[in-house]
Amino acid sequence: MTIQRPSRNSAALRCIVLAMAANLSAPGIAAAPTASPASPSGASAPETVEAFLARAEGELDAATEASNRADWVHATNITPDTDWLSSAARNRLAALSLDLAREAAAFDPTAAGPVERRKLDLLRRLTNVPPPADKRKAARLSALQTSLSSNYATGAFDFQGKATSLRQAEDLLAKTRDPEQARLLWEGWRESAKRLKSDYAEMVDLSRQGARELGFADMGELWRAGYDRSPSQVEADLDKDWAALKPLYAALHCFTRKRLSERYGASVQPRTGPIRADLLGNMWSQNWGNIFDIVYPGPVERPDIDKYLLAAGYDPMRMVKTAEGFYVSLGFDPLPASFWTSSQFVEPADRAVDCNPSAWTIDNRSDVRLKMCIRVTRAQFRTVYHELGHDFYNLAYVKQPFLFRRGADEGFHEGIGDFIALSATTLGNYKRLGIVPADAPGGDDIGQLLQKALDEVPLLPFAVALDKWRWSVFAGRIAPDHYNDSWWKLVAEYQGVAPPRPRPADGFDAGAKYHVAENVPYISYLKARLYQYQFHEAACHMAKWKGPLHLCSIYGDKEVGTRLRQMLALGGSRPNSEALALFTGSSDADPRAMLEYYRPVLRWLEKQNGGERCGW
Ligand SMILES: [Zn+2]
Repeated sequence: MTIQRPSRNSAALRCIVLAMAANLSAPGIAAAPTASPASPSGASAPETVEAFLARAEGELDAATEASNRADWVHATNITPDTDWLSSAARNRLAALSLDLAREAAAFDPTAAGPVERRKLDLLRRLTNVPPPADKRKAARLSALQTSLSSNYATGAFDFQGKATSLRQAEDLLAKTRDPEQARLLWEGWRESAKRLKSDYAEMVDLSRQGARELGFADMGELWRAGYDRSPSQVEADLDKDWAALKPLYAALHCFTRKRLSERYGASVQPRTGPIRADLLGNMWSQNWGNIFDIVYPGPVERPDIDKYLLAAGYDPMRMVKTAEGFYVSLGFDPLPASFWTSSQFVEPADRAVDCNPSAWTIDNRSDVRLKMCIRVTRAQFRTVYHELGHDFYNLAYVKQPFLFRRGADEGFHEGIGDFIALSATTLGNYKRLGIVPADAPGGDDIGQLLQKALDEVPLLPFAVALDKWRWSVFAGRIAPDHYNDSWWKLVAEYQGVAPPRPRPADGFDAGAKYHVAENVPYISYLKARLYQYQFHEAACHMAKWKGPLHLCSIYGDKEVGTRLRQMLALGGSRPNSEALALFTGSSDADPRAMLEYYRPVLRWLEKQNGGERCGW
């Protein structure tokens, strides 16, 4: 799957993120959850923290399973009835989560033991968008979320006389090589996002009240609390990570700008300053892989894996079996029999389903599944490795108590399968599998690394700009009148891109992103990216790999597997730094591994950029 969408992996958190944004109009379900009056000190026989946590975990476990089952049936058979059932189950789970978050906030964490304190903290953060206790305000917040969600999902604009959705606009923007057409698509989608602005501003105010009632200064502080360090430290870490990664991005930026200028002329793309945002092949300039043909100066000689897969007789099941085999080679137990009987591997012919790739644990235990509509392509094969990473992680921490059956932090879960995919998609691994003949030429390393860098690196500054903007908005440092100018200031600073024409002051360009409308935090994606390469580097080191990191495969290395399983088995029971240290020896997310991975292409870019005035 693409990293832009939250994958529904396992435990409560992600499901609840979605639940809060779900359609709250299912009949018979209260639109707004009611505040629980329960207070540990109010009753005659106050509930102890241990008793409360046992009850909370039991209730959440049951409600999550009910919601997962309803969601699964819905996602694999979309009808008005399953829609109703899944909404109802999600709403029940959302209401329960809010009640428990408030009850947790009423306990004095300093009086609790370390395990209990950790669980109380997790409970307080069960929802990304906390409503105020006031029922009327909570109902209003819920309505605003529903409105933001549906206004985003149904957004469309007129393009060449046709109503155009985001998905259509994205496809057209990826392919067009006409700057005027690109501008119209890019501006059109932002025009449609404008209508979200007043709802968003009101949502921000109400959620601030809700966050304060849970003991957070605002929603941004609540979001930053998920990394086992102080919210201000999370921001400082982000600045540090970005400072280290910026040279790689700046080199890519410089070369891409030069190539765009050569292609379109200096009047469209000047040779200095920011890049025109609409020329990068992506609606948010966060993935430039679509314009590889413009950026790379020559043909890339590389084995066509798509063709080889078909020639080798691969089908969807064989892709999943092969991916499972990689994990098993590291010493993981094979996936349970229920995985093979219950998953959805291919698109059924007789009903509507959700084809977005995702990994699930249905019962919060060993009933893990994959939901995809697999096609036999290199990209889909990589996605299978990604999704199985979630499933093997879920199985690894199954012995933890319910609240700790989760990733070590929000970035971990996405990083595991991507880390495995770095090994699995090397040419060496394709040859080992017999997909690529042993004597096939290796191809052009720089071209392949440049493609990967265009796909993966531009997400980093986008993530920084996006969440810094939201943190400021949530804290009240940016008023709605300044939403757009403050947004473009951050985008200019971090991404070094600029709109094709000046933007209207009353616009809401940040709202053109799904994660803004749906309130999904974004720095977890940046963290996942860092972890992915950090895990890979540590694993290749353990495997005594000598050579460039992008050629390393850890297939079959039992020592790597043992250490990996030790880290995964912790789930969320320990601070993320401990989990990280167990596998990598370092207790901090560290961008150096990612830089090391791309070092060959960075050197190449620097040579190409000689004589350019880089920077923006
Ligand atoms: Zn995922």
